Amino acid sequence: MPFSQKLMDLKKEVLAASKESFDAIDAIAEANTLKVLDAMRACKVAAAHFNQSTGYAYDDIGRSKLEELFAKVFGAERALVRTQFVSGTHALATVLFGILRPGDELVSLTGKPYDTMQTVIGYEAPSPGSLKEFGVLYNELHMVDGKVDMEHIKDVITDQTKMVEIQRSRGYSMRNPLSIEEIRAITAEVHRIKPDCICFVDNCYGEFVDTLEPVQVGADIMAGSLIKNPGGGIAPTGGYICGKDKLVELASYRLTAPGMGDELGASLSNNRLLFEGFFLAPHVVAQAIKGAVFAAGLFERLGYKTLPLPGTKRGDIIQAIELGSAEKLCAFCAGIQKYSPVDSYATPEPWDMPGYEDKIIMAAGTFVQGASIEFSADGPMRAPYNVYLQGGLTFESAMLGILGAAQAIEDLDK
Ligand SMILES: *Cc1c(COP(=O)(O)O)cnc(C)c1O
Repeated sequence: MPFSQKLMDLKKEVLAASKESFDAIDAIAEANTLKVLDAMRACKVAAAHFNQSTGYAYDDIGRSKLEELFAKVFGAERALVRTQFVSGTHALATVLFGILRPGDELVSLTGKPYDTMQTVIGYEAPSPGSLKEFGVLYNELHMVDGKVDMEHIKDVITDQTKMVEIQRSRGYSMRNPLSIEEIRAITAEVHRIKPDCICFVDNCYGEFVDTLEPVQVGADIMAGSLIKNPGGGIAPTGGYICGKDKLVELASYRLTAPGMGDELGASLSNNRLLFEGFFLAPHVVAQAIKGAVFAAGLFERLGYKTLPLPGTKRGDIIQAIELGSAEKLCAFCAGIQKYSPVDSYATPEPWDMPGYEDKIIMAAGTFVQGASIEFSADGPMRAPYNVYLQGGLTFESAMLGILGAAQAIEDLDK
């Protein structure tokens, strides 16, 4: 083994201590796999749905069947699942631009949204083409102690508030992700105050982490990325939107064009990959979460602050670790990179990424470029030098990467 005796002993200890967490994760994966299999049977998914389509692709039965399947599994009236979405941000932006009109107000209930969503909204900094330029108003409710400020939701919902945005995952902040029960309580409170206010959930990194999804507990619409959880590591690109029939329809007019909606859009040869990835997703998400639990357990024993702590129930697949120095952050990422299946001979370096204030270091050796359901780690080069890691197609590869990261930090002292 390329790891020190100390790490091998700790590995054993962490695996033993993680048994209960792992059993709970396996139980969720089993329940979600059953949910997917039941839906595949009910929808009568067959090999004919894997055929290719080209051009306008009217009557692409595979595309329609996949959307029927997503809607069934996620408990939604309707779904839009397309490789034409270039990323999660694009799917999320399609919901916002599809539904909001000049003079409507959007309120974020989970504080400052994910970085790329700030550019879409356009209130943090000038941003050409943003919602702000189209006359959509924006407000946000700050989180208190990492939780949604339930008491004050009533103060930010006004006559103009057409939609609230609720971000399930922590993204790259040190707050906790929202649990499904918290999403249930937040959406109930919003609908109590204003029954027709649209509750929109940014579901990125949350799919299949629990046995229910946001639209099953009160959200009106949600969206996410196919190169995260629901693509199962197989989807080559794409995003999805699920929710109320009329709202998904409005979003479809923004993805394609008014009048066209979801009736066009060639899935080319991707249908089989999207079905297969969705089938694998409950299992792959479980692998990724086990990797996160292992990382928390190992680094806690090595004396680092981790969020979440090893034994806590998960709301997303992200694990944050406070490393405390630039050297350790670089070493950690080098260790992860070394045990990646792709580009493992490379050493990651901090670089100036568009849209970020500090340099960012990233470790990712993925089959699908930028896929964060595949094992990856990144962090901004600023105190307290947090690293965020997520994904892992197999638990074994994630565990080896985490051991590699710990070994690289240990080697700094040599
Ligand atoms: C990943 C993510 C997004 C969208 O990011 P893309 O890179 O465009 O897919 C949005 N919100 C959250 C919370 C995310 O984690």
